[in-house]
Amino acid sequence: MKERVQKALDGIADLVWPRICAVGACSRAVDRPGRHICSGCYSTLPFYAPGGACRICGAPVAAKVSHLFTCETCTAAPPCYERTCSVLAYEGVAEELVKAFKYNRATWLAEDFAELAEGAVRAELDSHSVDVVVPVPLHPNRQRQRGYNQSALVARSLARRLNRRMDESSLVRIRDTPKQSLLGGSERRKNLKGAFSVVRPAFVRGRAILLLDDVTTTGSTLAAAAEPLRAAGAAHIWCATIARAASTS
Ligand SMILES: [Zn+2]
Ligand SMILES: [Zn+2]
Repeated sequence: MKERVQKALDGIADLVWPRICAVGACSRAVDRPGRHICSGCYSTLPFYAPGGACRICGAPVAAKVSHLFTCETCTAAPPCYERTCSVLAYEGVAEELVKAFKYNRATWLAEDFAELAEGAVRAELDSHSVDVVVPVPLHPNRQRQRGYNQSALVARSLARRLNRRMDESSLVRIRDTPKQSLLGGSERRKNLKGAFSVVRPAFVRGRAILLLDDVTTTGSTLAAAAEPLRAAGAAHIWCATIARAASTS
């Protein structure tokens, strides 16, 4: 009922004040109800679809592979999660939209990103088995500065779409680490050691968890966040991210 009223209000608002597409170079009115990316821009988004990828961490492989492939890193030291799927390549328009969402308060994009994430999760992960959607938490200092956790906004909408719960209280970030984007691969892993903790293990034990983050590069944040979830007895940990950036190291 609440959703029907919201849709009707959105429809009226669109007639009075049409939404302009969130893509900077596009000035078209958005033709998709409740969304902020127009259908033209939506169809040209850089979807993350490499010729092949590691079945665990999702790292792209140069050659085209059609079989289930596990990369060298995951073979040598498997992470605590089982699978990762990413929706977009972090480049061009996708990078622009994610940055606006994350750093420029364009929080209305949460619905657009959740819609995209739902498609990837249903196609690539065992979405029926997910019990709970857990966003990668920000440290309280970072969250206070930003005013919101962008991953939690998407996780909330994604959980609703999958008809599952969202849990943003059990996993917390206990160390305020330097920005990951300034560091290389091995430094990223060191930087994140012990950065996350589970404070409500009873809510994690035996659950199949979908861990959601905005952008991944090497997967080190997901691996670090998955560690305490696994230690607390999570039955499965799958990961989804809105975008995947090319690794620089
Ligand atoms: Zn557009
Ligand atoms: Zn891998």
